[in-house]
Amino acid sequence: MKINEDYARKTIEEVAPLVEEFSGLETDLDFPDVTVHKKFAEDFKDAEAYYVPNLDIFHFLEKYKLKTKNIFKSLAGHETMHHAQYNSFKNLIKREIYFYNLHPIDNSKNFATESPLRRLIEGDATLIQRLIYKKLPKSKLEMLIPNLYDPCYFLWSNILKKKFNANRKDINELYTAPFEELDKIFGGSK
Ligand SMILES: [Zn+2]
Repeated sequence: MKINEDYARKTIEEVAPLVEEFSGLETDLDFPDVTVHKKFAEDFKDAEAYYVPNLDIFHFLEKYKLKTKNIFKSLAGHETMHHAQYNSFKNLIKREIYFYNLHPIDNSKNFATESPLRRLIEGDATLIQRLIYKKLPKSKLEMLIPNLYDPCYFLWSNILKKKFNANRKDINELYTAPFEELDKIFGGSK
């Protein structure tokens, strides 16, 4: 499927109430800032979409292989959840910078050196993405299309699902929990 900025913005506005309902976080969205790209810069070559918290901008690709409107909707829900996370926990960016100053990212190890906070952020956004996709009415044909999640993100979302039984009060408390506590749950700082 092919999208444009107007479609992406409308989709974000459509899924925002679901993100709030499932996460218990506030989106506070007022005309989301969206950019649609023909292709992403080298750094983002594996991503299909991304959200930049300090600028509060959503980035999407113009063309999606194997994607339906529902899959795009759930992907927009994942990015909208990122907006909700940074909107609800104002010191999240500072905490991430603090962690990476202590533990610089080793790009050669890919996800192995991601911070436990990053694991919470991506795992939780993927958990919300999965809940949204599950709720959308789908045709039988669509159910055969794999809704491809990043395997690491999927794993982290499963940790939240199993360990906390997707209990939002407990999960939302993790955003302000000490790194050591997150490390026990997700690993990642060693
Ligand atoms: Zn994400």
